[in-house]
Amino acid sequence: MAAERQTKQKAIIYEALKTLDHPTATEVYGYVHERYPSVSRATVFRVLSGFSSSGRALEVRLAGSDMRYDYNVNEHYHVHCRCCGKIADVEVTIKTPATKTVSESCGYLIDGFAAEFFGICPACAENKSCC
Ligand SMILES: [Zn+2]
Ligand SMILES: [Zn+2]
Repeated sequence: MAAERQTKQKAIIYEALKTLDHPTATEVYGYVHERYPSVSRATVFRVLSGFSSSGRALEVRLAGSDMRYDYNVNEHYHVHCRCCGKIADVEVTIKTPATKTVSESCGYLIDGFAAEFFGICPACAENKSCC
């Protein structure tokens, strides 16, 4: 019975990730709480970190924003709307820039690189009053 409840909780939390599109843990909790008030905040946070350690979701850290969760675990980048803060996926291949030069300049062995794009989303571009 407990296992069944856990499965259900996980399903609704995963659904929140897909529906909300890069939500923060608090946003996920809001979504889940509206539908299943019995699910605690601690459960939501625990399940989310379980998703990220098992590879079912990514933790996304973007400048000036709380950590967000992403159900899209393929390698991708994000674009951030300057007006409304909306985040979208960018699925293009970007060559890691100048790894060798960076490595030589700081002496670190470079094994990662993060890029984040900024801009104005289509909705904000249309509704010019918001920026
Ligand atoms: Zn926008
Ligand atoms: Zn994403």
